[in-house]
Amino acid sequence: MPKAVEATTVIDVEPQQVKTNLLGFSASKLGDFFEEIGEKRFRATQMIKWIHQMGECDLDQMTNISKDLRERLKEVAEVKLPEVVSCQDSVDGTRKWLIRVDGGSCIEMVYIPERERGTLCVSSQIGCALDCSFCATGKQGFNRDLTSAEIIGQLWIAADSFGQFKHKAPRRVTNVVMMGMGEPLMNFDNVVDAMNIMLEDNAYGLSKRRVTLSTAGVVPALDKLAEVSDVSLAISLHAPNDKLRNELVPINRKYNLKQFIESAANYIDKMPDNRRKATVEYTLMDQVNDRSVHARELAVLLKDLPCKINLIPFNPFPGSEYKRVTNTALNRFRDILAGEGYTVTVRTTRGDDIAAACGQLAGEVNDKTRRQERYKKRLEEVQPVRIID
Ligand code: SAH
Repeated sequence: MPKAVEATTVIDVEPQQVKTNLLGFSASKLGDFFEEIGEKRFRATQMIKWIHQMGECDLDQMTNISKDLRERLKEVAEVKLPEVVSCQDSVDGTRKWLIRVDGGSCIEMVYIPERERGTLCVSSQIGCALDCSFCATGKQGFNRDLTSAEIIGQLWIAADSFGQFKHKAPRRVTNVVMMGMGEPLMNFDNVVDAMNIMLEDNAYGLSKRRVTLSTAGVVPALDKLAEVSDVSLAISLHAPNDKLRNELVPINRKYNLKQFIESAANYIDKMPDNRRKATVEYTLMDQVNDRSVHARELAVLLKDLPCKINLIPFNPFPGSEYKRVTNTALNRFRDILAGEGYTVTVRTTRGDDIAAACGQLAGEVNDKTRRQERYKKRLEEVQPVRIID
């Protein structure tokens, strides 16, 4: 019952009923939803196909669902996408979107075209709570987790922009990496739901090899993920020992390298396909973690983990305190690891002209921590030095 309204108050607006957003419902959750409203579960398959295969979000257009049911659905549910604020193209073909989510903050998403594939880098949170010292997202502070609709909505938006729903578009999303803003394992349920929709045959039908979750090392959540998922795994290491990693990736103080690597090994071990390997991400910063001694230490550290190593030259952002690795140090680092028998790739920097490269995603975060404020203050303090530079 609505509360009694004071006699003097004039209400001329209907109270807004919050509708369930079906965009982020995986097949099983959508099945539950239809059961709850007294419908058959197979409706879920019909609807998933409409939304994620045909790109249709208007319930009225879902013509194999009876008009009656559509009318009933419209009263309680909707398919609501996040709003695209802007879309920028880099000279190298990389595309970056700024996307507004409920509450006013904006997140960023990036598409990286390559010859054989197109990779979408998806955000999982507004900002990030982990505060890795070399990452722009961390400097933005943290607002909240994204909902599963806001996560899968990013893939929908990209697919739609390439015309992927309508025809076999030449440019399309073939791979998804959960490497945008945020720590996906800190938003476990929503990320798992969204990844399930990516994998679902009646939706995007991506293979689990082509969906990669990247984590900085939330060990209990990674252990849990091993129980429910077998998507590809990337681990963000960036340092070969705890002393250095404690500085670069503060969550290491809670879950150290040994625990993280054991957990990753367990994840890989549980995968049905025994050819699978974790990708180790290592961002190289000049004079910080790029010495020969670090490479040799890393080679020893990883000896029991089936993995390949992806070296990422550090991408600077305003106020960042590190420098990009030199080419000499990068090659030396790579050669040492390759000499120890590792498969090593170097991530080419893409989209840096539009600040879309790794670690440059900043969005517009209504920060709930005081980190953004503190960081801005520090930026102001260092400004004179930068100008003399
Ligand atoms: N929180 C997750 C997902 C974000 S992934 C994780 O840490 O894995 C972002 C990737 O970009 C990580 O591998 C991260 O180490 C890398 N990265 C962050 N800042 C960077 C920078 N300034 N330059 C290059 N790579 C960076």
